[in-house]
Amino acid sequence: MLAQRTRLIATSGTANARAAAATAAAGGKQIIDLTSGEIWAELAPAIRDGAIAAINRGENRYTDTIGLTKLRLKVAQALSSRTEIEWTADEVAITAGAKQALFDAAMVLLNPGDEVIVPSPYWTTFPAQVLLAGGKPVFVDSHDSGFVPRVQAIAAAITPATRAIIINTPNNPTGAVYDRSTLAGIAELAMARDLWVIYDECYAAFTYPPHEHSHILRVAPQIRSRTIVINAFSKQLAMTGWRIGYLAGPAAVIKAAKALQSHTTSNPNVIAQHAVIAHLENSDGTYERALHARLVTARRLGLEILQSLDKVAVPRAEGGFYFYLDLAPLLQGSQSAEHPRDADDVVAALLAAGVAAVSGTAFGDPYGLRVSYGAPIEHLESGLRRLVDVLNAWQ
Ligand code: PLP
Repeated sequence: MLAQRTRLIATSGTANARAAAATAAAGGKQIIDLTSGEIWAELAPAIRDGAIAAINRGENRYTDTIGLTKLRLKVAQALSSRTEIEWTADEVAITAGAKQALFDAAMVLLNPGDEVIVPSPYWTTFPAQVLLAGGKPVFVDSHDSGFVPRVQAIAAAITPATRAIIINTPNNPTGAVYDRSTLAGIAELAMARDLWVIYDECYAAFTYPPHEHSHILRVAPQIRSRTIVINAFSKQLAMTGWRIGYLAGPAAVIKAAKALQSHTTSNPNVIAQHAVIAHLENSDGTYERALHARLVTARRLGLEILQSLDKVAVPRAEGGFYFYLDLAPLLQGSQSAEHPRDADDVVAALLAAGVAAVSGTAFGDPYGLRVSYGAPIEHLESGLRRLVDVLNAWQ
């Protein structure tokens, strides 16, 4: 029958939540979908025009396996200015979204049995890819410290088998933004214990004052030779479907990723690559500022509505575009048979009330609930009002 490795993974919890919402909607139910890990927005004009121009020029053929040199150069330049360290094109590989970049990293860095520290709650794909690469995810809970793991807790989880740590800031699902001292502490551990740092900053464009995204390589440039930066245009330019991301790291890692990609996907889509180049060459940041402003408005509105929750605390929502609710005070409150026992029960009740969100079980947290505010504002408003009504009805 199927290979043993198929037992290591299930379809991602977030994809399942999206599918459940779509099934309910197809059955004729009006569903407000707040599950999505993307911003519902018009495409950036330079992306659209760049793609059309590339089609009209007849750009049909394979590119270099890890992307057009021009694009890799542009990414290297942007990284150089953000990290204040020089990057070159041979330290960058363009991938089919950040997901492939992370998969490349796991496949080229991990030996069977290697342990990888994953702060939890975690984005559902991190442990799945570690397992696929033959490694073992080791979770470090971050609930008690505002969803930013304590450096001592990470240190305590390190064993001789630990090979890497995955950091995701701003965080999916929790919305936490790691502070500089935590990043410095993690960097120190990486140096002392000889670890790789896989630094996923896909949501870097979206933080809300007073929180700021700190690049770990600006905080600790000394870990550059052991850091793999993961990023994508997916979220920052609201172009998730186009599938352009990248990893950046030591040239030897990129060379190995290139060999891997040459036998898996080859290059990311050529038109999408040209579209991103056109955007990087022609845009003046207006689109990005508008996208950010839209999220600021959505976040403010959402937090206002969530103030009405009786038993559940208003989420911190420091970065990204997710409200992450800690349902523990609600779930642990009652013994009655109708009372939900975990976040899956809450998600089912919400779906019955016409609003879809993602259960924390997808993120290793049976008491968490992720609600995306990347949805259109009018959906967000009515969806959150329904959510508050459902949660407040449980005593
Ligand atoms: N990393 C994190 C933390 C994410 O949340 C996501 C998508 O949700 C990705 C990576 C993958 O992004 P992409 O769509 O570029 O593959």
